[in-house]
Amino acid sequence: MPRPIMATISVGAMQHNLQRVASSLHEQARGLGREAPRVWAVIKANAYGHGLAQGIAGFAAADGLAMLDLAEAVACREAGWQRPIMLLEGWFEPQDISVVDTYGLTVSVHGEDQLRMLEHARVARPIHVNLKINTGMNRLGFAPHAAQAAWQRLVALQRRGVVGELGSMMHFSRADDDPAVTRDQLAVFKSLAGSMPGFVSVCNSAATLTPALWAQLPPERTQWVRPGICLYGASPFADRSAADLGLRPVMTLSARIIAVQQCLPGASVGYGHLYTAEHPTRVGIVACGYADGYPRHAGTGTPVTVAGRATRLLGRVSMDMLAVDLTPIPEATVGSPVVLWGEGGPSVDAVAQAAGTVGYELLCALAQRVPRRIE
Ligand code: PLP
Repeated sequence: MPRPIMATISVGAMQHNLQRVASSLHEQARGLGREAPRVWAVIKANAYGHGLAQGIAGFAAADGLAMLDLAEAVACREAGWQRPIMLLEGWFEPQDISVVDTYGLTVSVHGEDQLRMLEHARVARPIHVNLKINTGMNRLGFAPHAAQAAWQRLVALQRRGVVGELGSMMHFSRADDDPAVTRDQLAVFKSLAGSMPGFVSVCNSAATLTPALWAQLPPERTQWVRPGICLYGASPFADRSAADLGLRPVMTLSARIIAVQQCLPGASVGYGHLYTAEHPTRVGIVACGYADGYPRHAGTGTPVTVAGRATRLLGRVSMDMLAVDLTPIPEATVGSPVVLWGEGGPSVDAVAQAAGTVGYELLCALAQRVPRRIE
């Protein structure tokens, strides 16, 4: 008998979320009398933990796929993806260029080393390039004062046939929570990208879901947005739920009750005895722990659903198990279904918030040992 735990991945929910994002972009763009941005569906980190094959199927209607890893990009091509693929980072050695060339990948160029590699490259066909500008995140990209010179070197490479289409890109650090910082980053980008003809790519999920941001880019430029987390049915915002955004959870982590304990007042539960019963309490033990990817820092009160009813976690999460309060659900017993997050349970964002992290981390951290069911 396998352990009663399962991650269900809904390809239909992926399709729904992409459709939701794309149709709202189209609607907003129509209202503004401009072309809607194209969509890179971000499927880095094994499609945020959901599996590359699922990402390819779920986002089949996207204009392109964006990711980090060269091996993932190759896997997508070999799985039959024919539209553009963009490497957000992920090429570090001169020999990587021949893979980029062979598989027809679009790359981001975010530093001097990559520029030099391209200058020494021999390619069979021109490589499409996004010049990444560091507008304030200070992670990757050319500093604003160096961006124009980098662009001119790419233009020279374009004349030599090494570079194909050219565009510029940046990444927001606080599009989810700080409009002032976001405005400043966008202003830096616009001041530079104005003299860099070609496509522009600026928006992650939070910015894609904020039309006032992408609508500021010149309408005559082809724009590509790069949503990730929202396509998996989690919210990029702390104060707006995925459900409010019309998104459906893609991953549902479910398990079963494997034991029930009756605790009298004063009895404590689990490692460290972090929860002590004040009243007679029925405690359900669930076959899910931090070795499955459930966050150890989720404590008493974290939402969970048992037999279709909302209840709470009790005490500390163990490696393979966690405890929940069955007192309000007298019908729950050994074998009752538990939803840790996803369809029919709390949102991954609610669990993440209780554990002091973000939905991104929980989705990406789902353990290999958890069996997947693809729907
Ligand atoms: N673009 C870049 C460069 C990224 O690194 C990421 C993810 O971190 C994204 C887009 C997608 O971000 P999100 O998942 O917040 O939409």
